Amino acid sequence: MRYSRYLMPTTKETPSDAEVVSHRLMLRAGLLRKVASGIYNYMPAGLRVLRKVERILREEMDGAGALEVLMPAVVPSELWKESGRWDAYGKELLRFKDRADREFCLGPTHEEVVTDLVRREVRSYRQLPLTLYQIQDKFRDEIRPRFGLMRGREFFMKDAYSFDTDEEGAAESYKKMYDAYCRIFRRMGLDFRAVEADTGSIGGSSSHEFMVIADSGEDAIVSCVSCSYGANVEKAECIPCSAAIPGATKGMPRKVPTPGKRTVEEVSAFLAIDPATLIKTLLFETSVGDVAVLVSGAHEVNEIKVKNHLGAEYVRLAGEVRVREMTGAPSGFAGPVGLSVRTIADHSVRSIASGATGANEKDAHLVDVVPGRDFLPEGYADLRVVREGDPCPRCGGALRFSRGIEVGHVFRLGTKYSEAMRAVFLDEGGKERVAVMGCYGIGVGRTAAAAIEQNHDDDGIVWPISIAPFEVAVIPVNVKQADVTAAAERVAADLDARGVEVFFDDREERPGIKFKDADLTGIPVRITLGEKNVAAGFGEIRDRKTGETLRIPLPEVADEAFALVGKKKAECAP
Ligand code: ATP
Ligand code: MG
Repeated sequence: MRYSRYLMPTTKETPSDAEVVSHRLMLRAGLLRKVASGIYNYMPAGLRVLRKVERILREEMDGAGALEVLMPAVVPSELWKESGRWDAYGKELLRFKDRADREFCLGPTHEEVVTDLVRREVRSYRQLPLTLYQIQDKFRDEIRPRFGLMRGREFFMKDAYSFDTDEEGAAESYKKMYDAYCRIFRRMGLDFRAVEADTGSIGGSSSHEFMVIADSGEDAIVSCVSCSYGANVEKAECIPCSAAIPGATKGMPRKVPTPGKRTVEEVSAFLAIDPATLIKTLLFETSVGDVAVLVSGAHEVNEIKVKNHLGAEYVRLAGEVRVREMTGAPSGFAGPVGLSVRTIADHSVRSIASGATGANEKDAHLVDVVPGRDFLPEGYADLRVVREGDPCPRCGGALRFSRGIEVGHVFRLGTKYSEAMRAVFLDEGGKERVAVMGCYGIGVGRTAAAAIEQNHDDDGIVWPISIAPFEVAVIPVNVKQADVTAAAERVAADLDARGVEVFFDDREERPGIKFKDADLTGIPVRITLGEKNVAAGFGEIRDRKTGETLRIPLPEVADEAFALVGKKKAECAP
């Protein structure tokens, strides 16, 4: 490809709304242009990157036995009503009507459409297992589109869906996809971790998110320093601490005045006690009724764990009025002793030998409160937020926090959709059964953006070769010199003939500009042909990543560059 005939409009300045480096660099390198909030034109070189990501996705999906289909972007509301998501999904779902007043949405994900497809086509267990995938435009009316391709509204996603006869088969299909995902991200040269995730509103029994480790990541993840355990902070398990936390005395509960002291800090400072011995009492309104949740003052309640523990549709912290109704006191003074609200407690409460808690009375707390003696929660469970340094639930090693970009997600869906939409098949005995499903997504643009977050320097992008728009940049420094141009043409033609993707900078630009653009656009290997070198029979090869530059005799330049390309490709092996 010749730069003079190409559309790769590089720029110096960075737009003010581009907050993260991948967004800035994609704009500056002329890969992307904004059309509306979260909606973009993919420029030629940007599209080449996305197509390369897609190629890897296709190869690995095909390799795992998945079949490619293409479902519509426009989806009739009937299907979404059948699954119940038409009402459950929020404003991210873009809904509209056709001329006949029929309702549609733009698919943000395709469980309904694929379940409908399979229930029509699959009759017998002999047709299972079946995994279908597509690479397609998705639309989600994100509340805060930002970070360029990282969180767009219209974006490409690879979404796959598996159908099995039973849970065992579903687990196998899940494992196949999980392994394919590991290969995919390794092939893109990314540093990632598969973390256990919350299954959220989509439902299901187990799920992993594939996180590319980067400081700009929107997700907080924990990982063990000693083993491969990783989890989303929302989901990270906390094991009960075995050591008891000693309290003050073992006398009976005493009421003490705590005027205006409500927070853990205020109360523990005022009573001069360890915050870890304070029994914090939070009141929730939930779909299964009012619930009090107890946790040590040293910890925070994890609402997602509470919701999962209760099996509730929703949980929300009670407001001031409801707190007064439930406890008879203003908020900040609630406690489990004598409370007539269903009560559950985090493990951290059990290890408090004797502690303090609200007296359910304005400006008063109780001290010398002993869990199990003075109150008895319905049960103890893991209900708190994980903290850095907590012991790993798998091996006991220390947990570390980092930031991650969620590039992929694998879910075991169970029968949520197949049950609701009657995707059934006949088993060996001729009995009708519901298919067991899984769903698996990877954001194409987000993955490319994540690769930049992880691979860049002050000068620009440093593409992993497997997803670079081109593999080698050939730069004749001054195109007006016939021997320089001729040498460059020869090298480019030689590499081209060997199947290398060459970007030929034939512009009549100053050398500095050409070099800056080459660095900015991140093409992995650069061949520079300057006047003096060519006259002496040499050319230069520069590795974008290491900055290492080699001066090579002209007849060997193509061979050397080809070898460097090969080495870089090997680094992106699965
Ligand atoms: P997030 O929590 O970041 O909003 P999600 O949980 O909604 O993502 P999934 O429904 O699991 O995402 O979608 C599968 C994949 O699609 C994600 O792992 C991500 O790579 C990609 N993706 C999701 N939303 C967007 C978006 N707004 N822009 C770009 N890619 C996205
Ligand atoms: Mg997700």
